[in-house]
Amino acid sequence: MTGHLSDLALDELLEYLTPPAARGEAEAHLKDCESCQATLAQMRAEREKRAVVLASEGERDAKINAAEGDKQRVIKASEANKLQQINEAEGQASAILAVATATAEGLRRVGGALSERGGIEAMQLRIGEEYVRQFGKLAKESTTLVVPGDLSDLASVVTMATSIIRRQPPA
Ligand SMILES: [Zn+2]
Repeated sequence: MTGHLSDLALDELLEYLTPPAARGEAEAHLKDCESCQATLAQMRAEREKRAVVLASEGERDAKINAAEGDKQRVIKASEANKLQQINEAEGQASAILAVATATAEGLRRVGGALSERGGIEAMQLRIGEEYVRQFGKLAKESTTLVVPGDLSDLASVVTMATSIIRRQPPA
């Protein structure tokens, strides 16, 4: 061998990659050459520093990834919550619309029935029945029974309801 070990040869020594044929000569030179020993020590130190930096960067990347993962989880949870609220609101809106539609249809049918022959009389009978039935309930549920003064109360309720039903809507 002439002169000092090359950087490549030193690198191979560091990595334990020196070809077997050259190993004896390289190790013999290194043993007696302070210059090559110093260069090798410096290369080893730089290699270790790079390893530390890489580890630190890996750690930082891992933290960034974890933080990003947390952020995405929070966003996903928030979006899921928003969707759930939208779905619930839509469900409630549909339910309200269904009830309103059914109520309107019911009222339309009652209106149709009342306009038929005998409809008003049927309504008066129904109101009278309901009035009496509610008084019956009141008597069962309450220890204090309020009794109408006389039957004219029943008549006045039916008359009032009839006048409301007969009132023509504005054209
Ligand atoms: Zn040397």
